[in-house]
Amino acid sequence: MGRWAHTVAAFSVIAIACAPADATGMEAGPPRTIRVVVCDSVGVTPEVLATAMLTTARVYGQIGIDIVWRDRVDQPGRPASPTSESGTMTVYLRLVPLAWEPPAVTLSGALGFTTVGGRVASVVFERIVDLASNESLSVPDLLGYVMAHELGHLLLGSKPHAVSGIMSETVDRRGVTQGLLWFTRDEANAVRAKLRSPAQ
Ligand SMILES: [Zn+2]
Repeated sequence: MGRWAHTVAAFSVIAIACAPADATGMEAGPPRTIRVVVCDSVGVTPEVLATAMLTTARVYGQIGIDIVWRDRVDQPGRPASPTSESGTMTVYLRLVPLAWEPPAVTLSGALGFTTVGGRVASVVFERIVDLASNESLSVPDLLGYVMAHELGHLLLGSKPHAVSGIMSETVDRRGVTQGLLWFTRDEANAVRAKLRSPAQ
């Protein structure tokens, strides 16, 4: 009951020191931007969501990527289609109730889900709350890391889960509590390469 998404294996507390991608290991280039349109269908409190966004932004900022948050409700005039601007990608982050889960996600107990090759990441907020309660984790922190993880799937395509870090298959409790979940160097380079593509 604690997978970020998709696959099998029960939640386990993994005490693996995460190795953040450092500047020397990343490909050079200008900052990249992800525009994230947030669609909150569960009514997360503004304080919780704001703190979660900071956590997500910190994960991406560490690899030189800026996140620009957009609220679909507050900015109805903004284009809904992805931008074609090089270095920028628009994706959608849905905060959804349990009832919106696909059956496969319900069976796996995942915290979120995405479609490979898609632009929509979904986070099941009730599962975040449950896991945070069961594991004595901060809801905003856990939510922020799950958001970062699911957005990572959109950027990394079919790349499998990592053995540690933000793209690990299972939630690293210590990483959440200590604020130490990052992309690996390879993941960081893959994300930046994805954003470098002109066809976003
Ligand atoms: Zn995942």
